[in-house]
Amino acid sequence: MDCVFCKIVAGEIPSDILYQDEEVIAFRDINPIAPTHLLIVSKKHIPSVLHLTDAEAPLIGHMTKVANQLAREYGVAESGYRLVINCGKEGGQLVPHLHMHLLGGRVLKWG
Ligand code: AMP
Ligand code: ZN
Repeated sequence: MDCVFCKIVAGEIPSDILYQDEEVIAFRDINPIAPTHLLIVSKKHIPSVLHLTDAEAPLIGHMTKVANQLAREYGVAESGYRLVINCGKEGGQLVPHLHMHLLGGRVLKWG
């Protein structure tokens, strides 16, 4: 499949992998918009959060738990951080494979 995150999961594209388990992989965003910009990506190809089945929905909780742990490890837990899942065109989703952004290390504006 021609999906950049599937290729990272398969090890076909190099990435700066910070964490992985059976369900998710986490690595640094290649084009960071904050000093800490990590991606928590499902290993399964799910096109967006909109496509989550009821059975897959607990994955979001797991991604959040992993993000919280990475926030602690990478020093933004105390200062604060933002978890973002973009969905669809107007939601700003560029890669059609489920992922969560962990952003921190600066004051994040809204809107
Ligand atoms: P989104 O706009 O929510 O779909 O976010 C996709 C993110 O993936 C963007 O922030 C990109 O910079 C990032 N990205 C795209 N290709 C790669 C890659 N090969 N390695 C790391 N991050 C990537
Ligand atoms: Zn994929």
